[in-house]
Amino acid sequence: MKIHRGSLRKNVLLALAVVGMLFRATQAFRAAAQSGGLATETVKISEALPNLPPDERFKADILVIVAHPDDETEVTGYLARAIYDQHKRVAAIFGTPGNGGGDMMSNAQAAALGDVRSTEAREAMAFFGVLHVWFLGGTDTPGQDVLRSLETWNHGNALWEAVRLVRLTRPEVILTWLPDYVAGENHDDHQAAAVIANEAFDLAGDPTVFPEQVSAPRQRRGIANLTEGLQPWQAKKIYFFSDSANLEFLKGKGPEYNTTDISPSKNETYYKLAAEEMLRHLTQDDTGQLAKQALETGDFSYFKTPVYLALGKSLVGGSTTGDIFEGITPGAIPFAPVRGYRSEVHHGVSIDLGGPWAFYREFWKAHNLDHVADLLKTPEVAVANRADVYVPILIHNDTDESVEVTLTSTVPAGWKEVYGTARYPVRPHESYPAQVHYMAPATAKPEWQALSWNAEAQGQTVGTLTLRVLTDSPGLPQ
Ligand SMILES: [Zn+2]
Repeated sequence: MKIHRGSLRKNVLLALAVVGMLFRATQAFRAAAQSGGLATETVKISEALPNLPPDERFKADILVIVAHPDDETEVTGYLARAIYDQHKRVAAIFGTPGNGGGDMMSNAQAAALGDVRSTEAREAMAFFGVLHVWFLGGTDTPGQDVLRSLETWNHGNALWEAVRLVRLTRPEVILTWLPDYVAGENHDDHQAAAVIANEAFDLAGDPTVFPEQVSAPRQRRGIANLTEGLQPWQAKKIYFFSDSANLEFLKGKGPEYNTTDISPSKNETYYKLAAEEMLRHLTQDDTGQLAKQALETGDFSYFKTPVYLALGKSLVGGSTTGDIFEGITPGAIPFAPVRGYRSEVHHGVSIDLGGPWAFYREFWKAHNLDHVADLLKTPEVAVANRADVYVPILIHNDTDESVEVTLTSTVPAGWKEVYGTARYPVRPHESYPAQVHYMAPATAKPEWQALSWNAEAQGQTVGTLTLRVLTDSPGLPQ
């Protein structure tokens, strides 16, 4: 190395001047301390511990956030490709241990079934080499109303854990269920996983959210640390898959992955690899047992359906239908705040679907997911023959006067209204949460039918609503 004598001399003189100043300041401080009666001690300067970066062993490219053991099988036809041939690191979060539902292997039920199924989930993921698997502590809540699952899961606790795991695994991409009410299985737990995944995507990069998780410990190697020392993390993309009975509506909304392609590294089709992963869920009739049957008979028709994903959000560009990793480059990106909730302005007297439908209308806007509102043209639900059907309806009065609103419904033959048609007193600037309850008819085969409502105030129609209903669906209670 070449040293310029001139600048060396200048630096030495500067250093001497600084030392001289410090010496004089110390002398002055000591004199002051002595005259004031204070004692001082000179602390020996030691070497500080290195500040360690996040633990690279837990870094994930893809974080799958679902509700139940076996939910991951919706995307294993894609994950096989990502893991084996694109060498992506995958981690998974399950909202519940899967403690509800029939058991094809033994009498184990309820909490015992949860213990069995959470182990099946770990074994299934381990078959793909995925060992980083966590559970959010929710409980299986069979139904179709996301708000009921969020309640039984203890939403705050589950989100607290999900945000922590996003900060720990630092995923590039999150894959989760579609946050919407669809006609199909429409499991409320699937929707709860979707809601929590979207919230975690939007919150994990904000250091003011669960700040205890991102506060440095007092002493990393000590024993009395009550803060977590993680770093905020902004994931780059989020994609959705759906349990709707018909996946046509997802076409063109995101990438589509063929499962009949052959994995170059495994020399096997992706659907066969997916079936082998699914085989670990043997307690479950429609997944583990289905895979067992396919592997025994060689009939894999069920597994040959492509994996359809819808793009939820990308913070790094890339096309809607392009590969999941299109536009993604290594490294952190800045926190991207979403719009957040803004109160909706109504005018006069009006009606809207309430409950989960009302929630999603606001949720999509608050989380910059406006396009999800366009996926389904008309709200829909699937119900079993003779099932109880509940339709929450909000009656808004945005006038300064009390009004009386008459709500009536029009239903196809065979439907029985239990309650709901009535005159509702609605105070000024109030939304009255009405509930209409029906018993569905028994149809010989699934049929699309329409339920509609009319609201009248002072002899004028103030609002109408329609809900598409798919009958004779072997689904969950609504
Ligand atoms: Zn499920």
